[in-house]
Amino acid sequence: MNELTKTLLAADEPRPVTVYNANATSSFLLVADHAGNLIPRALGRLGLAAAELQRHIGWDIGIAGLGRWLAEALDATLIQQNYSRLAIDCNRPLEASSSIPAISELTEIPGNAGLTDADKMARADEIFRPYHDRIEAELDRRRQSGHATALVSLHSFTPVFKGVARPWHAAVLYNRDPRLAHSLFQLLSTEDGLVIGENEPYAVSDLTDYTVPVHGERRGLPHVEIEIRQDLITDPAGQTAWAERLARLLPAAYTEMARQ
Ligand SMILES: [Zn+2]
Repeated sequence: MNELTKTLLAADEPRPVTVYNANATSSFLLVADHAGNLIPRALGRLGLAAAELQRHIGWDIGIAGLGRWLAEALDATLIQQNYSRLAIDCNRPLEASSSIPAISELTEIPGNAGLTDADKMARADEIFRPYHDRIEAELDRRRQSGHATALVSLHSFTPVFKGVARPWHAAVLYNRDPRLAHSLFQLLSTEDGLVIGENEPYAVSDLTDYTVPVHGERRGLPHVEIEIRQDLITDPAGQTAWAERLARLLPAAYTEMARQ
């Protein structure tokens, strides 16, 4: 990017992407599109109260912590996005209306109203593209070095959406390629006391997702999008418990998938 076109992130602000455990040995590559809730200073908190940015509309609560524990437990690389999905949603195509949402659940986002093309381009160039370019570079590097890859996209969902409580503890999502997701679903479903969704409360599609269609499906890599209910991973105890569970079940699901 030409330095002259940088208008959003000042030099002293956090970079959009953090990589944990670079060059780890695991076949699993963990990615977290909604791990952070930072807002570029130039956007003035998008006109929202600070408390709104702590809510689930701002980010995937618990996923940054869970992702790090899971990266440790699997010896896997984690690539995470640090800026809020309200600045730009890194799991939406740039042309989707929900890419820079004017409303999220029931909350209007004043700082996203009436944006110019230049405003939108700055968010894409300085937040969305560096994140996806980093994932692409990692996938290219692994392909060139013969390092097998299964892509694991980590998300969390709110226990109550628009007033309706959700029964699932976690879910696996996919679209065109169910291989790894289905194996993991089978294993999660045998865990004591868990209600597991398969393509609910969300499913992957080309209109509502970017990471799995682009980095998983188009490259033909085995993949799964995992959603965990936020109240289960709000604190470190919940995050480590779920990281341990996934560190146990993901390799088993991968082995099972390879056998089929
Ligand atoms: Zn998410």
